[in-house]
Amino acid sequence: MNNRRNFIKKLGLASVGVGLVSLKTNGAAKKKINKPVVLSTWDFGLKANEEAWKVLNANGRALDAVEQGVRYTEADPTERSVGYGGRPDRDGKVTLDACIMDEMANIGSVAALQSIKHPISVARAVMEKTPHVMLVGEGALQFAKDQGYTEENLLIETSEKEWKEWLKTSKYEPVVNIENHDTIGMIALDSAGNLSGACTTSGMAYKMHGRVGDSPIIGAGLYVDNEIGAATATGHGEEVIRTVGSHLVVELMRQGHSPQKACEEAVKRIVKFTQNRKKPLDNIQVGFIALNKRGEYGSYCIHGGFNYAKYDAKGNELIKSNHYLK
Ligand code: ASP
Repeated sequence: MNNRRNFIKKLGLASVGVGLVSLKTNGAAKKKINKPVVLSTWDFGLKANEEAWKVLNANGRALDAVEQGVRYTEADPTERSVGYGGRPDRDGKVTLDACIMDEMANIGSVAALQSIKHPISVARAVMEKTPHVMLVGEGALQFAKDQGYTEENLLIETSEKEWKEWLKTSKYEPVVNIENHDTIGMIALDSAGNLSGACTTSGMAYKMHGRVGDSPIIGAGLYVDNEIGAATATGHGEEVIRTVGSHLVVELMRQGHSPQKACEEAVKRIVKFTQNRKKPLDNIQVGFIALNKRGEYGSYCIHGGFNYAKYDAKGNELIKSNHYLK
């Protein structure tokens, strides 16, 4: 009897053991994590990714990678929707928005910052050196100067000329996929398996002075949850803020959706909200990119034409995003 009980006991234990083995064999634990990997919005993401990759490839921290990556775009005057060279607001002032988030949910942000070439680094300083998470306008500029940043004229000649032309009609018409706005949003998973993100823009061209978009708003333009994944957005900031877009994408991943499906669901939410408000979709573009803890990624947008750059062990490539309106 005793022997029999022991035999059954052993069988039971054995079957639990078999269960664990098969879980390990068939389950996610077997699948290799794709790391390091960095994603960023639009084709300017390719160059920015190169900078980020230098950090990631040397086993650096995702936070440093995303800061270095987007700094490249901020400094490039040929990119007319981010940092130096960005288009001005309707008063002719270049006002910049940026935010950053690390694997420990530390956050920093600046909005409507003028005359400083690298708002992303000021956002990081807000995160690391102040008791706050967001500084705006004059206060952000004062803080940047206290940190040793010098004021520069960010309005390049071409932008000034275009703005003066625009003043003749003064029509505020953000155009889908025509470069009068765009943002670099970058999210990365480092070789230690940690996620971080950065987002920086000069916002919508000829916006009202003082207008702040989604890009410096944690949860809207960018969100990182180191247990789940990261997401960032580009496009009409007002729509992204309305749905807290990037946070929504991360929460959808938490519910079990792939990064691709999460982006699709978030875009559909924006479409639904727009239709509920009886607004036309014609001129509303929003694109999301997302990355999960396993290094899987995806993207989705409303109108075709959005793309993003992905750099991992397979190299740096531009990927066309799938879109809602066919
Ligand atoms: N999201 C940016 C803003 O609303 C613009 C863009 O990415 O196109 O300021």
